Amino acid sequence: MQKFDQNLPISDAEWEVMRVLWAHPGIHSKDISIVLADKFNWKESTVKTLLGRLVNKDAVRTKKEGRKYAYDANLSERELLSQESAHLLAKICQKDHGSLLALMMDQAQLSQSDIDQLSSQLNQRQKGAPETIACCCQPGQCRCQNPWTKQKD
Ligand SMILES: [Zn+2]
Repeated sequence: MQKFDQNLPISDAEWEVMRVLWAHPGIHSKDISIVLADKFNWKESTVKTLLGRLVNKDAVRTKKEGRKYAYDANLSERELLSQESAHLLAKICQKDHGSLLALMMDQAQLSQSDIDQLSSQLNQRQKGAPETIACCCQPGQCRCQNPWTKQKD
């Protein structure tokens, strides 16, 4: 669990920079600005500020190449997405995880093969799935338990 919050939160602006680093490992800050100038009109100094924050969060590392610095992501996109989704799931009652996934599925762009893969993943999960999910919330932070009347679940 210690690693969990190490790189969080990655801001939306920082995430845009991470995407460039995942696509082009070892890129220089000037080239990152060229990629993002079109989308956001960011100056190179803005990109350098964002890179500095990401280095402080240990999400990005630098390497000196002559007079320039090359930048690399310390975390893969999948690792960061895994941290972000765990972070999101931790914000709600465990009993509501299923409805959150259903909501995300409604919003996601899904191909036929994506749906095939999701279906087989769900079929696998069904084999060992419990009948019900326990609430682990602080009483009063969800509707499962009422801290004042000591109502049973
Ligand atoms: Zn709960």
